[in-house]
Parts: sequence; C-alpha cells; structure tokens
Amino acid sequence: MSSADHRRRAHQRPESFRCLECRLDVSVHAPGTAHRNHCPSCLTSRHVDQHRPGDRASPCRSRMEPIAVSVRGDGEWVLVHRCTGCGALSANRTAGDDNPLLLVRIAVRPLAQPPFPLELLGQI
Ligand SMILES: [Zn+2]
Ligand SMILES: [Zn+2]
Repeated sequence: MSSADHRRRAHQRPESFRCLECRLDVSVHAPGTAHRNHCPSCLTSRHVDQHRPGDRASPCRSRMEPIAVSVRGDGEWVLVHRCTGCGALSANRTAGDDNPLLLVRIAVRPLAQPPFPLELLGQI
C-alpha cells in the first residue's frame, strides 16, 4: 500500500509540477500568464512564493485552495488562494485553460449560499 505513495520522492522539475490535490502533472507554461502556479483542472495551488510571484522562497509548501474570484479593473479574473497550512492569502492570475466551470462555481458561491434570504432584496 505505502509503496504507492510517491510524495517523498524528489519530483522537482522547473518545467512542471504535480498537483497536490488531483495529482495532475502541470506544465508551468500556460496561455495568458507568465508563470502558472495552480492546477488548471482543480485550481489547487501550493504555498511556495513568499514575497513575489515565482520567488519560491516560502518554507510552507502546504496546499492552497481556491476560495474566491476577484476582478481587476481591466476585467481580468484573479483567483484568490488560501493556504491550508498557514492561512496565507494570495491573488493569482487565471490562465486561459483554467477549468471554466470551477471558476464560475467559485465566483457564484456567495450567491448560492447567501447569509440572508435573497427575496429580501425585492423589498428594499
Ligand atoms: Zn489539480
Ligand atoms: Zn502556507
């Protein structure tokens, strides 16, 4: 059983990384972004950057889950990740081949789970 666990094996190639969530091998080259840092399939990332995107200076290395989508002034969508290890937040550019269904699901999550009945809005 445990022989199937390859997590301890050094698997660091600069050209790709393996998703901590779905195990997909992901190329760092992606359309629309200079440095891909999250999985295009499940949008999971890893806490490797400390100060700047791509500096790989963080000792945390924990899994980062996508929690929200933000929109920049030019209309570009930005994916917000939260680290499951230390709670750090980071904003990351979306790539052209990111899973669109998952992106939309994250974007509408607050509307799907409102803290008050949405019917109240009709009474304002
Ligand atoms: Zn993944
Ligand atoms: Zn972290």
